[in-house]
Amino acid sequence: MESNWKSRKVVVVGAGAVGSTFAYALAQKGLADEIDLMDANRDLAEGQVLDLAHGLPFYPPVQIRVGQKQDYADAQVIVITAGARQAPGETRLALLQKNATIITSIVDEIVSQGSQAVIVVASNPVDLLTYVALKRSGCPKGRLIGSGTVLDSSRFRYLLSQHCGVDVGNVHAYFLGEHGDSEFPAWSMTHIAGVSIDDYCPICNKCNNWQRERERIVKTVKESAYHIINYKGATYFAIGMALVRIVGTILQDQRSVLPVSTLLEGEYGLQDVCLGVPCVVGQGGVREIVEAPLLPGEKESLLKSASILQAALKELTGWSL
Ligand code: NAD
Repeated sequence: MESNWKSRKVVVVGAGAVGSTFAYALAQKGLADEIDLMDANRDLAEGQVLDLAHGLPFYPPVQIRVGQKQDYADAQVIVITAGARQAPGETRLALLQKNATIITSIVDEIVSQGSQAVIVVASNPVDLLTYVALKRSGCPKGRLIGSGTVLDSSRFRYLLSQHCGVDVGNVHAYFLGEHGDSEFPAWSMTHIAGVSIDDYCPICNKCNNWQRERERIVKTVKESAYHIINYKGATYFAIGMALVRIVGTILQDQRSVLPVSTLLEGEYGLQDVCLGVPCVVGQGGVREIVEAPLLPGEKESLLKSASILQAALKELTGWSL
């Protein structure tokens, strides 16, 4: 009898800090049946796989292997974490030229294998690389997405929960726009226990200058990566978890609303740009873009993010569709 069982296979391209941490977190969650790691540095991939696989007695059942390009063919999700990372003080945008070349070569191989996987780009600058990968691949737009501002939003939720002294699970909040310096908080979408942040402020009553606290929280979110990179050279634990959240909602068709990077075609008045906006994510990737009624200042910030990204893309040379 033919079985309908299809393995939940996830291929991770780039077995460095982000890729290996993501694989480790994914294995522990039991969300995948097979995790394949690939890297231009084959020895690194071999080493990471051995190290991860030696934990097999302690994970839910999963196979962890070194992948090869043929593995793209039947993967359900491919996560791209390959490429240069930020040096201390370097912006994400500065990585564009070198990482665009890497991303296009990976996308070409994925396409050559006839893969129908959802492709999740995490490499930076993530919004621009998502755009480059999407155009290069010819994939339907929902099937090729970036990690967007999922990590920034989790930093925002964490800081709000710390400030207000409530469980982070009761904090709904989003950073939107570029995963980079022009990102911004959507205060109009920020709720604690279902209560809008402005109405929650007198309930919380933890500070005497909420305006100043708001500014501190926003600055901290925006500078987080720079601080962590100065301390230890790279960020990888929280992005590893953010990627598990994105991949989990795809594999389980959870339809979670996450601010992933997706191509806008008229939504929010924007055209032909990928950036982080709230999306319903499930089987097949982005299923819907949630067009939230942003405040005029927030809308302006989104447009500014888009124009910065579009200007940066114009600077990209030696790249063709
Ligand atoms: P890393 O240097 O530890 O790992 C990158 C790996 O990519 C290296 O092992 C390298 O050999 C590999 N690689 C390079 N070219 C390749 C190719 N063509 N095919 C396969 N593998 C290739 O870097 P990292 O700290 O893991 O960061 C990876 C990327 O993720 C960076 O661009 C970084 O800025 C980005 N990042 C994104 C977020 C986010 O929120 N989206 C957060 C943190 C880091």
